[in-house]
Amino acid sequence: MAYRITLIPGDGTGPELVDATRRVLEATGVEFDWDIQEAGADVMDKYGTPLPDQVIDSIRSNKVALKGPITTPIGTGFRSVNVAIRKILDLYANLRPARSMEGIPVCHEGLDLVVVRENTEGLYAGIEHDVIPDEAAESIRIITRRASERVVRFAFEYARANGRRKVTAVHKANILKATDGLFLRVAEQVAADYPDIEFNDRIVDNMTMQLVQRPHEYDVLVLPNLYGDIVSDLCSGLVGGLGVAPGANIGAELAVFEPVHGSAPKYAGKNKVNPTATILSGSLMLRHLGESEAADRVDAAVAKVISEGRSVTYDLKPTRDDPTAVGTREMADAIISAL
Ligand code: NAD
Repeated sequence: MAYRITLIPGDGTGPELVDATRRVLEATGVEFDWDIQEAGADVMDKYGTPLPDQVIDSIRSNKVALKGPITTPIGTGFRSVNVAIRKILDLYANLRPARSMEGIPVCHEGLDLVVVRENTEGLYAGIEHDVIPDEAAESIRIITRRASERVVRFAFEYARANGRRKVTAVHKANILKATDGLFLRVAEQVAADYPDIEFNDRIVDNMTMQLVQRPHEYDVLVLPNLYGDIVSDLCSGLVGGLGVAPGANIGAELAVFEPVHGSAPKYAGKNKVNPTATILSGSLMLRHLGESEAADRVDAAVAKVISEGRSVTYDLKPTRDDPTAVGTREMADAIISAL
């Protein structure tokens, strides 16, 4: 039976990345019945909103979505569609694995980190306003026991299910005593339920330095929203950049899979950017659907193409202007051949 999946191409480079991923996923032999839904800057004129109701209805009904990146204007204009989808659907855990691959030059070989970012509150609650226009503004950061507990529990359950040894809670509880203090306290309480998994905590600024210097000491990291956003990009950088960093937004019943990176609008329509992050997000989706064998094959095909280093996009070549770099489509074709 085919899996009915909501497919959101997004905007900017999203449509070409999602197309490449769809072709790779279909080449595994797993059958999909795609429910294509438009969202993002390009549909504002058509629907009067970048996030039409039918997109949310479709995800609610199908339970699983694969999504391309969507542009968020800076300063003015609509709020983030990406954040809205996570909040409306209560996709509370943002899973961002960062694993190094042969063929990508990195400072530390053999890295295998998983970042679990709280996805629904913190500074992304978006409660902010001008106090005195153009002079002072205020943003309210919400941390609750409920959201902290479920995301930390998710991190421990993930660790247990995936043979991981350690969970590190990342915070700034020394300064933000009420908010991050609560997050840390809850993390310590949840950790007591998982005696088989090691637990420790780190202050976020120290954490970033340690990730650059001694990343092998870490395994699964769990963080409030903003720290998770920043630290997961750092982890992506440790394993080769945003072009190879997959992600998943997971709730109690629904899940939306999307790359960590954004819409890279300057490359839109140029068949240029790396499809790996979106394809590996598709692989996370296959695992979520219980299709682990197909996911293993996709991961292996991606790893083969990258380790050979021939049919890869510009960002995986030794220099950014390497004339042998291939396009998004051609890299996907090579991955399909390797399958
Ligand atoms: P970005 O991730 O689009 O780009 C950052 C850098 O990474 C750029 O140099 C870009 O060229 C490079 N890059 C990104 N994806 C790549 C890929 N697949 N292959 C090779 N290089 C890649 O971040 P940005 O420029 O800060 O954001 C652009 C837009 O995307 C903004 O509107 C932002 O709000 C939005 N955004 C959306 C999401 C999402 O949809 N979940 C996530 C982050 C940012």
